[in-house]
Amino acid sequence: MATRQQIDKAIKNGVLWLMAQQNADGSYGKWGVGSTCLAVMALLYNNVANQDAAVKQAIAYILNSAPVDNGYFRSLTVMALVANGEKTPDIVSRVQSDTEWLIQAQGHNPDEILSYGGWGFTSVSEAADGSSTQYALLALYAAAAWGLAAPRETWSRAVRWYQRNHDINNDGSYTYGLGDYSWFNRGGIRHSMTAAALAGLKAINALAADPDDQAQVKSLVGHALDWLNTNYIIELSPGIRDSWYYYYLYSMASGCVIEPHIIFIGTNDWYTDMADTLVALQKPDGRWTSELDKKSTEVVHTSFALLALAKANLHLVASGANGRNKSSLAKERPPKRQIRKAGFPAIKTLDTFDFKHSPRINRSLVEQLGEGDFISRKENIVLIGNPGTGKTHLAISIGLLACNRGYRVKFYTASELIHKLLVAQEQRRYVKLAQLLGQIDLLIIDELSYLTLSRPSAELLFQVIASRYERASLIITSNLELSQWATIFGDPMLTAAVVDRVIHKSHVIDTHGPSYRLKHRLQSDSLAE
Ligand code: ADP
Ligand code: MG
Repeated sequence: MATRQQIDKAIKNGVLWLMAQQNADGSYGKWGVGSTCLAVMALLYNNVANQDAAVKQAIAYILNSAPVDNGYFRSLTVMALVANGEKTPDIVSRVQSDTEWLIQAQGHNPDEILSYGGWGFTSVSEAADGSSTQYALLALYAAAAWGLAAPRETWSRAVRWYQRNHDINNDGSYTYGLGDYSWFNRGGIRHSMTAAALAGLKAINALAADPDDQAQVKSLVGHALDWLNTNYIIELSPGIRDSWYYYYLYSMASGCVIEPHIIFIGTNDWYTDMADTLVALQKPDGRWTSELDKKSTEVVHTSFALLALAKANLHLVASGANGRNKSSLAKERPPKRQIRKAGFPAIKTLDTFDFKHSPRINRSLVEQLGEGDFISRKENIVLIGNPGTGKTHLAISIGLLACNRGYRVKFYTASELIHKLLVAQEQRRYVKLAQLLGQIDLLIIDELSYLTLSRPSAELLFQVIASRYERASLIITSNLELSQWATIFGDPMLTAAVVDRVIHKSHVIDTHGPSYRLKHRLQSDSLAE
């Protein structure tokens, strides 16, 4: 499995290679605004600053290019400029006019069965296709983050297009278009087109306002996921020329990171799978290539690969349409307030944690968890060890780092939490409390230790744990080995159910060792003597 360091290195080398490909006029690749927008997004999503000369030149190139009658160019321009984040009057008006162009370019006539509700290459396309439609919707999704909302009919029409496309295969998979694409579909384009449909549908799902549209798109998303869950494959885009491969991965990533996030496709965490594959496929000089294609498409392949790998950043940008993009996240929920609301019993940081004292604790794992990716993956952390070995310290440190990243964190001891749940139940506020807990990104339950819970208390605690399963993260600390948790929950079945849910997708950190508290007390005692 590719480690975090390997992925970071792959990204770094890919970014360096891509930057070196910039043309003298600031563009990338040979498809003008199209390939330039892809490249600039790949750089921005991988933490190249928008003040970087390479990005500034590329943005200038995009702004200086006259808008053309091309759906990809318009869509990608909106996406790249929103990703860039700078809002000069020039940029805002360009995003505005391209968004308006896209809204107009959608097939508006219900009698034109091939184009109605979708997008094609140009504004007067006779037929819409799944790829142009995906990008138009991703662009409208990005524009919404800037307050440029498309009218509700735009989303309604798009649902109609997807419904008709869905009905062709009628198994949850999608084809390129509604006309006769048998020549195209024979190549096995199904996987990439279903991934592209997932991305488009998720964008609609996030923004459609009409309740009927919402219900319909939800069901289409579910059906597409059903198909992907059984047919998904990461190593290739089956049957198709491999020029679509990186496109396929980026489409998949886009669909999965638009909220609500998708972590698993089939039984696998798609990001881990994809990162493994992309790390392995990268050329030593940082490019991603394909055997069948000409050298000139390498810029596009590498951009797609980098975009697919940039999940963490995509995550932030993709949340934009819900008003939670990077900058508003920081503004709305400043870390200080987050930290106060978390209710930590003390402030402890990783900097003050002495890993030499506890050699058993996996330092690199702890530091990696501090980066917070486990929260976006809805994974758990279980800290197990004898008293005084830093379990609470580590839980707080990781929680603090999560606050700094804008996550909602809440710290309780197990007995505090149970008490709170019991009181809420008595006062008929349980549902409300459960909802509030459901909004917490990281719930820390400290000292799930020598308690013996009554059956109702055990069940309440189980409810909290079960409701977070694959939806939100937990950190649990305990003096007891998992095998002894039955002494807490009483019932072995309930214990097994709790343990299953907690340890599935969890990082277990063993802190066993000499007590830090004890050792330091002894030291200061001997100093006093
Ligand atoms: P536990 O959760 O196992 O009860 P704590 O996290 O409460 O342990 O640790 C007890 C005290 O010792 C705390 O003040 C904590 O900050 C400190 N401590 C424990 N381990 C370390 C360590 N390795 N480095 C620095 N301080 C530590
Ligand atoms: Mg403790």
